[in-house]
Amino acid sequence: MSFSHLGLSEKVLAAVATTGYQTPTPIQEQAIPHVLARRDVLGIAQTGTGKTAAFVLPMLTVLEQGRARARMPRTLILEPTRELAAQVEESFARYGANHKLNVALLIGGVSFDDQDVKLTRGVDVLIATPGRLLDHFERGRLLLTGVELLVIDEADRMLDMGFIPDIERICKLVPFTRQTLFFTATMPPEIRRITEQFLHNPVRVEVARPATTVATTTQLLAESGHEAHDKRDTLRRLIRSAAGLKNAIIFCNRKRDVATLYRSLLRHGFSVQALHGDMDQPARMAALEQFRKGEVALLVASDVAARGLDIPDVSHIYNFDVPFHPDDYVHRIGRTGRAGRSGTAITIVAGTHDAKAVAAIEKLIGQTIPWMGEPPGAAVGAPHASASPRPPGRQHRRPRPDDRRQPKRPAPVARFEDPRSRRAPQHTASRPEEGDASHLPAFLLRPVPVKA
Ligand code: AMP
Repeated sequence: MSFSHLGLSEKVLAAVATTGYQTPTPIQEQAIPHVLARRDVLGIAQTGTGKTAAFVLPMLTVLEQGRARARMPRTLILEPTRELAAQVEESFARYGANHKLNVALLIGGVSFDDQDVKLTRGVDVLIATPGRLLDHFERGRLLLTGVELLVIDEADRMLDMGFIPDIERICKLVPFTRQTLFFTATMPPEIRRITEQFLHNPVRVEVARPATTVATTTQLLAESGHEAHDKRDTLRRLIRSAAGLKNAIIFCNRKRDVATLYRSLLRHGFSVQALHGDMDQPARMAALEQFRKGEVALLVASDVAARGLDIPDVSHIYNFDVPFHPDDYVHRIGRTGRAGRSGTAITIVAGTHDAKAVAAIEKLIGQTIPWMGEPPGAAVGAPHASASPRPPGRQHRRPRPDDRRQPKRPAPVARFEDPRSRRAPQHTASRPEEGDASHLPAFLLRPVPVKA
């Protein structure tokens, strides 16, 4: 099957050819003809499956007919996070290179006035986070009655983040007759209810079982001491001894741990950036861009900040903390092993509590994750071989980084700035693990440019 059989326009096919894609991914192959036939689509697919192009390419084709009117967007795409919204905007720029379409982004952390100017000019594609969209609507700056096509992306993530009431409201503000494309990785009952309420006779397209992990990723467990400094020590050892490490995302469960670990890695001379929900929008974008371009090798991130980010070739994932929720594990390791590339995901396990959380993950993914080296004995209690009850950590409330609800805090990259980051990395002899940096790959020791 080639792209030319899907019914896409010449302009879109030319842009696809420029990107170098040879064949459509399964979600593209299955969804695109239905989108072009103006059917509602329920797409069950994770990030990494090519689902963005599955809606962007046919949307571009559809949008070739008709034109935008002031304050009345023709199509609306809802994304749970600012980064995902920005990523979809990039996809429109890439695939829509041969189109003259007005694309606007309504996300928190960006001036209302600039966004307003764009809306006034007329918008073909509006990409928004739910909170910011409703803010504009409530100010009377936006009419949703011209929306012909609505995309709800990462719906299960919207649910996690408490956006479902906003989504329901927005669905009632757009015309009943619009076409709806709905994407989710999982189908919990609340999501099923929304699809039953707001999709009209949808075509269901499912490309992978929601909880399957990527086959090309090598998954491993690494034993560590319980204290935070033990875990940091373990992480440094793992990074330094990693084979074929090109770049890595390191996941922490809490925002404040992202900041601490980031500072620690900087101190130890690593080329690193941080990404979490308290950083302001420009700082998050800048951190991500540095990582994407390979200017820094490591990115320390929280789940919410990193969810769905498209960073094409991450070689390694490190779970500094075992995630509270097993499905976050699946999302985290989905950052590597993409598009057929191989990847490695290593989870640091510190004590019985972590081992129980690993057991819950293993139950979800239906496979046992091997230990690096000898499995720990009594220290960890080895309960991971069988399914264990969920750990108390599950009761932690998830962060809600709604750009509308969350207080804006002045937390740009500079907040983590460490004066040492401006100098060449230094090593203190008093700490044994820092003493000898000669075996570190050079790219991990590059100084990090941090804005003052
Ligand atoms: P997504 O699931 O939308 O986040 O896309 C995952 C990655 O796959 C992105 O880096 C896309 O650029 C890439 N991609 C999308 N469609 C194709 C395709 N047909 N062939 C190869 N790569 C693709």
